[in-house]
Amino acid sequence: MRFHSTRGNPESITASEAINRGLAPDGGLYIPEAWPAFQPEDFDGLNTVAEVANRLIAPFFAGDPLENDLAEICQQALNFPIPTRWLESDRLAMLELFHGPTAAFKDVGARFLAACMQRLQGDAAKPLNILVATSGDTGGAVAAAFDGVPGIRVVVLYPKGLVSPRQEHQLCCWGENIVSLRVAGRFDDCQALVKQAFNDGALREQFRLSSANSISIGRLLPQMSYYAHSSLQYWRETGKRLNYIIPTGNVGNSLACIWARKLGLPIGEIRLATNANRTIPDYLQSGEWQPRESVATLASAMDVGAPSNMERLFHLHPQVDSLRQAIAVQSVSDEEIRQEIQRVWQRWQEMICPHTATAFKVWEDLPDDLRQLPWNLVATAHAAKFDSIVEPLLGRQVPLPAALADILERPARRHDIAPTLEALVPFLA
Ligand SMILES: *Cc1c(COP(=O)(O)O)cnc(C)c1O
Repeated sequence: MRFHSTRGNPESITASEAINRGLAPDGGLYIPEAWPAFQPEDFDGLNTVAEVANRLIAPFFAGDPLENDLAEICQQALNFPIPTRWLESDRLAMLELFHGPTAAFKDVGARFLAACMQRLQGDAAKPLNILVATSGDTGGAVAAAFDGVPGIRVVVLYPKGLVSPRQEHQLCCWGENIVSLRVAGRFDDCQALVKQAFNDGALREQFRLSSANSISIGRLLPQMSYYAHSSLQYWRETGKRLNYIIPTGNVGNSLACIWARKLGLPIGEIRLATNANRTIPDYLQSGEWQPRESVATLASAMDVGAPSNMERLFHLHPQVDSLRQAIAVQSVSDEEIRQEIQRVWQRWQEMICPHTATAFKVWEDLPDDLRQLPWNLVATAHAAKFDSIVEPLLGRQVPLPAALADILERPARRHDIAPTLEALVPFLA
């Protein structure tokens, strides 16, 4: 299997090369050249997420230098539970993506990517510099996944004042090979700065720049595996497709679900929940693509005004009508997020994070015919990561999962920079 750029450059490369490069040289994103076709039966006898992932990703690594390592990479990366927990039988479930080391779904992609890059690129003499722009969880997950990996440095850029205190700690508490930069700007400024660095050919060479944010194919491919695993589980039990509502920012998580359905997994409807950043719902409504500045919301990891993975979605659905058939999108306000956090606690005694709350609101607003279907709401982070929002709303403490308690014990360090290349370069090595 080969991959090529969304921007039409005809060069095609292997999965490993696409992982090494992150962005394509023409500024586009890598997409697979073909879509393997699976039947649910192709996964018979495979029960863990790692086993399902290995079968699902195998065609994308066919002929790749990492082909023979794939099973081991899946085992190493996907070593924590990803349960579907039913709140109402045959109707409403939560796909809990928050049982990894940093208690958010980005652990899945980050750990898979780290397992690949460790094998491909680790070089103690001339370390690889991974640049990560994060609006919250990406950086923590990537830092955790690469912490202590020899021959690889991670430089995390995050927007000052726009991540929760616990999230910030999680970006800044790692070992020597992780550098944390607090940028005077928004997430989009961080992302633009990373793009600017990549587009500087000399800089890219000199510092062996690479990426690990949600544009990396090494993050997208493994994220398909929990949709495959959970939908197969339901299919085996009921013979029915499972439907998903996905909190969405940069469209990495939801794109993985759309790709998994395209590959033949038994997935039905896919609905995206955005926060007050309305770029995607406005596009579906008007047909005009108008990326813009992000606005700050309670679901801060979804504060994206110019979602980069849309470029991959446009490649799949060049016409807005075709995209309207594939997905639905709804925007959820901060006020609605607050109400959902309280409502979900009152109704099911579940504590949910502000991102997960957007999915509950979309479920709540489904038309009656769709509400009859079985829905799996994607819980993207543990509520304890957003204690400063959740605890006052519920009037009680959110118990800390062990992984987070561990992280909060570590000392933190960071540097402040302006959103410019000159300010960034001294932190590369
Ligand atoms: C990153 C993130 C999202 C948004 O995911 P995208 O892939 O960027 O759409 C949602 N919730 C949480 C907790 C996140 O960290």
